[in-house]
Amino acid sequence: MKKVLITGAAGFLGSHLCDRFIKEGHFVIGMDNFITGDKKNLQHLKSNPNFEFIEHDVTQFVKIEGELDYILHFASPASPIDYLKIPIQTLKVGSLGTHNLLGLAKAKNARILIASTSEVYGDPLVHPQTEDYYGNVNTIGPRGVYDEAKRFQESITMAYHRFHGLETRIVRIFNTYGPRMRLNDGRVIPAFMGQALRGEDLTVFGDGSQTRSFCYVDDEVEGIYRLLLSDYNKPVNIGNPHEITIRYFAEEIIKLTGTKQKVIYKKLPIDDPMQRQPDISLAKKVLNWEPKIGREEGMKKTFEYFKSLSKKQLYKSEHKDFSNYINK
Ligand code: NAD
Ligand code: UDP
Repeated sequence: MKKVLITGAAGFLGSHLCDRFIKEGHFVIGMDNFITGDKKNLQHLKSNPNFEFIEHDVTQFVKIEGELDYILHFASPASPIDYLKIPIQTLKVGSLGTHNLLGLAKAKNARILIASTSEVYGDPLVHPQTEDYYGNVNTIGPRGVYDEAKRFQESITMAYHRFHGLETRIVRIFNTYGPRMRLNDGRVIPAFMGQALRGEDLTVFGDGSQTRSFCYVDDEVEGIYRLLLSDYNKPVNIGNPHEITIRYFAEEIIKLTGTKQKVIYKKLPIDDPMQRQPDISLAKKVLNWEPKIGREEGMKKTFEYFKSLSKKQLYKSEHKDFSNYINK
C-alpha cells in the first residue's frame, strides 16, 4: 500500500484519481481549497478508511505528517472562464503551489506527477501536437495566466528533476470530460449539455470551425496511472486523438440530447486555439496506452450524469456573463 497525496482532489479529475488509487489498494490524502471544486465529488469517500481529506490552499506551505510515496498535483482552475475570472490564483497555484509540492516531494523522497496541459502548445502551428513542439503562446493574452503558469510548472519540475534528482512525471492532458465536471464551469461539454437540459440554444463561439479532441475520463486516468508508474520523466501527451470541429460537435449534442433548440453563434474568445489534436505515439510506445472509450459512449455516460443533477444545480448560473473576462 502506497501513501498518495492528490491535490485538486475535490475537482473533476482529482476526484476520479482518488477513486482509482483507492481501488488499487492505496491510502489517499486528498487536498483542496474548493475554489473551483465541490465537496460532493468526494462525498462517497467520506467514511472510507483509506481516505483522508485536508482543506488547504497549496499556494501556502504544505505540511503532511509521516511518509509519502506519491504526489499528484492537480490543483488549478482548468476551465478558460474559471481562470479568466481568477487569474492571479491560477498563476499562483501553477507556480507557488507547484514549488511547495516539489519541496514536499523532495523532503519526503516521493515521486511527483504534475498535471500539465495541451495549452502549453497555445494556438498550435504544428498539428497534431507532438511533445517536442515548443508551442505558440501569447504570454500577455487573457489565457496566458493559465498557459504560462503551466509552462513554468513544467520548467520548475524538470529543474527539480535535474538539480535534485527528484523522481518527476509530467502529463500533458488534452480536453477530458465525464461525470463530476461542474455543470456551469463554462467548458464546452457541460455548457452544451446544460443548455440542452434547460431548453436553451447551444452557443458556438466563432464560426465553430475550431477543433478539439475529447478524451473520456476513465481513459485519461488510466494513462495518468501508467505514467506515474513508468520510468519516463519527460512530458507525455494523454488524450484522445479523434478530432472534430465545435460546430459538428454541437450537432452531435443536439442529436444525443434530443433537444429542439438550435445552434447560435457568439464571438470567439481571444486566443482560442483553432486546432487541437494530441499525437499519442509516445504514450503508446512508453506506456502501451491508448484510449478505449469512443465519444458516443463517453458522451452518453456524461449526459446521464448531468441529467441526474438537481434543478438547483441546473439553473445555478456561475458564468452567465463571461464576456467581461474573455474579450478583455
Ligand atoms: P477542476 O476545476 O474540476 O479541479 C481543480 C481542483 O483544484 C478544484 O477542486 C479546485 O478547488 C482545486 N484548486 C485550485 N486551486 C487550488 C489551490 N490553490 N489549493 C488547493 N486546491 C486548489 O479542474 P479539472 O478539470 O479536474 O483539472 C484538474 C487539473 O488537470 C488541473 O491542473 C488542470 O489544469 C489539468 N487539466 C485538465 C484538463 C481537462 O480537460 N479536464 C485538461 C488539461 C489540464
Ligand atoms: N466553446 C463554444 N461554446 C461554449 C463553450 C466553449 O463554442 O459555450 C468552444 C470554445 O471557444 C473552444 C472549444 O469550445 O473553441 C472548447 O472550449 P473549452 O472551454 O471546453 O476548453 P478549451 O479547449 O478552449 O480549453
